[in-house]
Amino acid sequence: MSTTIIRSYLQQKHTKFRTRRALRQFQEKRIQKILQEVIPNSPYTKERCIGRNMDTWDTIHPMEKSEMMTNFDRLNTVGVSKEEAIAMAKKEEDSRSFNSVLDGYTVGLSSGTSGQLGLLLVSQYEQEEWVGRILAKVLPEHLFYPKQDRVAFFLRANSPVYERTGSKRLAFHYFDLAKDIEEHLEPLQKLNPTLLIAPPSFLRHLVPFIQNGTIRLTPQKVITVAEPLDIVDERLFRSVFKQTIHQIYQATEGFLATTCEYGTLHLNEELVMFEREPLDAQRFVPIITDLYRTTLPIIRYRLNDVLRLRPSPCSCGSLLTAVDAIEGRCDDILLLPQKDGTQRPVYADFWRRCILMSDARVQDYGLRQVQENRLELFIQADEEDEVRTRVEEALHTMIRKRHGEPVDITHVYDWPKGGRAKKKRIERRIQPS
Ligand SMILES: [Zn+2]
Repeated sequence: MSTTIIRSYLQQKHTKFRTRRALRQFQEKRIQKILQEVIPNSPYTKERCIGRNMDTWDTIHPMEKSEMMTNFDRLNTVGVSKEEAIAMAKKEEDSRSFNSVLDGYTVGLSSGTSGQLGLLLVSQYEQEEWVGRILAKVLPEHLFYPKQDRVAFFLRANSPVYERTGSKRLAFHYFDLAKDIEEHLEPLQKLNPTLLIAPPSFLRHLVPFIQNGTIRLTPQKVITVAEPLDIVDERLFRSVFKQTIHQIYQATEGFLATTCEYGTLHLNEELVMFEREPLDAQRFVPIITDLYRTTLPIIRYRLNDVLRLRPSPCSCGSLLTAVDAIEGRCDDILLLPQKDGTQRPVYADFWRRCILMSDARVQDYGLRQVQENRLELFIQADEEDEVRTRVEEALHTMIRKRHGEPVDITHVYDWPKGGRAKKKRIERRIQPS
């Protein structure tokens, strides 16, 4: 294990703030340092900062993914072109080898659920620093604990950095989500991981094999990644693994949140500064600034996610902001047609709650808006027809209460299960009018 990983692990372990004010001061100091390093080498950041003092960085116009991609060549500080980076990432993706580096930098490609490509560009140092911090946040025992953790990692793409963490203390095993689940069962059983890390959609596939006794796993900790953890999945996994289910919320743009011992998500505010663009009293869209990365600087970057604040403080006592849920993409807020011809946004969580509360027998669900006045509903349950009718009625009632125009609800009997693509339960397929 490299010294960078160990050093950043220890730094992370020992970074504690007594007050929000101290945290805020720390963030400000980091941002000033980042700006000083980035501005001379990133022509695009320099342009974004024109006419501002360094201490008014928080007035820079927020950047989104499309802007980042358009200006990628002038945004990164190491002169890598977008074409080179995409070509490299695609080659890796096709060969599934994930070992190549471009001029010493690692490239990652995220397909994104909205179809917009996202590119990640990090130096080896940044990558190792990031791994050290993740380990500090998620390892159940201290890094110097004398017992080995066997980590099973189900991801869409591997990274050599995980293998560099291999040691007597940690054995990392990458499982490629592009393969069929049957191929994974035997090696997974053989490993019997102490730490099981996978997207919820994959764990859902795995559950029947555990329930029918094909495999027996005894993980000490289960962590979901890559997709928001829906409450139906959380309940199912908790009953199958008999423990709190943990989450890592990470995007191409950074390591954003992790759960504490109580299973509450806390924003990683010692690594990323979060500004909030409020949607309502509880919900916001984050604008993030990465406090460490400079190869591809993330300064005032608007994520496409809706986060819901936790109304009460978490019992763990952490002063890092607690969130109840990542509710999904902004693009997936359904738009209800109103009598006056306008559209009213209704957040994913309202649909989710409406569906789950209408009938306790719901095991899985999906809802997508395919036309302004047409929704498609997927329900999996025992006594499925009866449950489906009740959910449908509940949805009509909720729409009426929100003064929406009536919509047609069509039942569908199959729903994308995830795998190489991310699973979405609430989805909008129309553009705002
Ligand atoms: Zn907590």
